[in-house]
This record gives sequence, C-alpha cells and structure tokens, in this order.
Amino acid sequence: MAETRYIFVGPPASGKGTQTKLISETKGLVHVDTGSLLRENIANKTKSGLIAKDYIDKGHLVPAKIVAEIIKDRITQQDCAKGFILDGYPRSIEQAKKLEEIRQKYLPQIQFKVIYFDIPMDNLLERIIHRYSCPKCGAIYNMKLNPSSKGNKCEKCDVELTQRKDDTKEVAKARFETYNEETAPLINYYKKQNALVKIDASRTVHEIYQDIVRIMKNDNN
Ligand code: AMP
Repeated sequence: MAETRYIFVGPPASGKGTQTKLISETKGLVHVDTGSLLRENIANKTKSGLIAKDYIDKGHLVPAKIVAEIIKDRITQQDCAKGFILDGYPRSIEQAKKLEEIRQKYLPQIQFKVIYFDIPMDNLLERIIHRYSCPKCGAIYNMKLNPSSKGNKCEKCDVELTQRKDDTKEVAKARFETYNEETAPLINYYKKQNALVKIDASRTVHEIYQDIVRIMKNDNN
C-alpha cells in the first residue's frame, strides 16, 4: 500500500508553518518548507538564492524550475524516508504537475494527501505584520495575538526575535494576490483527484493540531 505524505496548502499566515512545526516535532515527520529553504539559499548566496531573492522581496513566486530542484533534492534525502510534510509547496498547478513527475520518478511508493487550511483572509494581513520568529529554533510569535512572555526574545532560546523581510504590508499584499491567482486553483485541482481534506483553520492552534493528528491517524501514520 502507498505511504501517505502530506501537503499543507493555505494562504500566507494561515498557520501552516506553526502546525507543520508542531506535527513534525511530535510525529517525527520532516518539515519541508520551501520558504525557509529558499531563505537559506539566499543567506548562503547560492546561485538559486541569488535568483530567488528578487522574487521573494516582491512577494512573487520563485521560478518553478528552481523550487522543483530544491524540493527534489530535499525529499529524496534519507531522513525524509520516514515521512515528511510539504509546507508551501506546491504553490501553483505547474508546481503540482512537477511534483507528480518527481514522485513518479523518485518516490513511486508514496501518495500525497493535501490538507487545506480554510480561513477567511480578512485578518491575515494583521497576523503577518505582527509576526516575529526565533532565528534559532523557528518558533513563531505574534506581538499582538501570541506574544513571547520574554518580550522581544524567544521563550525557549532567549534569542532576540526577528521579523521576516517580506512580512511588510506592501509585500504581504502582493503575496495574497499571488496566492489568489496561482495557489488557490490547487484546491479544486486536488479536490478533483480526491486528495484534499479541508480543515477549519480559524480555530485555536490546539484544535487545528488535533484535527490534523486525527486525519493522520486514519491514514495509519
Ligand atoms: P513562505 O515562507 O512560505 O511565506 O514563502 C516566502 C516566499 O518564498 C514566497 O512569497 C515566495 O516568494 C517564495 N516561495 C516559497 N515557496 C515557494 C514555492 N513553492 N514556489 C515559488 N516561490 C516560493
């Protein structure tokens, strides 16, 4: 029987990153997050990173070929054999088709299930512009909704929190447009393949977490 791997799809700041982090810690799945992988490439000044930077700074999608290469390299590594969650990939129909090619060629034993984070988009801009994270452990805080008890430092690491460069109002607006135009069509695409499960992502972190765990349990993971 095919082994299930998960794709988390939803608008920016819908909570995908928070849930992937929690689930990967408790279930031992590898968190594969294209945004972070691209930011690492930028920090390391790789060829892909240098190209990606301009697109990220504008809130646009990085060219599909670059992201596909990064994803293929990551999900075929040994640690991913025990299971992984794709957070932020695919982000367009073109990328979904590319992912299917990668699956068929390198990982034919797996099948994907898509968890769609359904949430009204009205309050997400607020979430983004007050979002800070720990550069060491990746913990995500929100200065208004979920502040660190240590002010501008991480509760766990005591390291100063930082804000992502693309978490400004202007870039975030462009990211929402990109989501509506390029990523939202994936919902119907995967629905038609019977691969989509919708969850109500406007609830608490704990409620959403329990929902995802229940879905995974039914898949025997
Ligand atoms: P995220 O950390 O998921 O919010 O992604 C930050 C930025 O990285 C996005 O606004 C895009 O510019 C870029 N990015 C992340 N994932 C992808 C992807 N699958 N395809 C293209 N660009 C991406």
